[in-house]
Amino acid sequence: MKLTGSCLCKSVKFSFSAENKNFGVCHCSMCRKWGGGPAFVVQSMGDVSFEGEENIQSYQSSDWAERGFCKSCGTNLFYRMREVDFCNFNLGTIDGNEDFDFSLQVFIDAKPESYSFANETHCMTEKEVLAAFGSNN
Ligand SMILES: [Zn+2]
Ligand SMILES: [Zn+2]
Repeated sequence: MKLTGSCLCKSVKFSFSAENKNFGVCHCSMCRKWGGGPAFVVQSMGDVSFEGEENIQSYQSSDWAERGFCKSCGTNLFYRMREVDFCNFNLGTIDGNEDFDFSLQVFIDAKPESYSFANETHCMTEKEVLAAFGSNN
């Protein structure tokens, strides 16, 4: 299915294909630093396109990935791998995100003891994530 979204000030708009309306949460320390809390993300299946791309600033957070945000309002938009076709969009930036299902938590072993979600989801440790998807962060 095709999903659309935008940043807070709407300088950046985007669309992409997704398999379903599921979202995952990443508890890793980089995501928590980036967004001030765990990252709520929807994985794209490709067909990523942007409007207002000149308003996107990318930060290279590791040798293999970058994190994009809007230059004017600061909304965090996506996490993208540079060599492979992998891009996660932040749930809150996606239109109609209130209906999505919480299906997965990753880097569960990096989650601080100070919070936890009541939802029953599939959980993966850092080791399991790296084995399944390759590098992260
Ligand atoms: Zn913006
Ligand atoms: Zn993360």
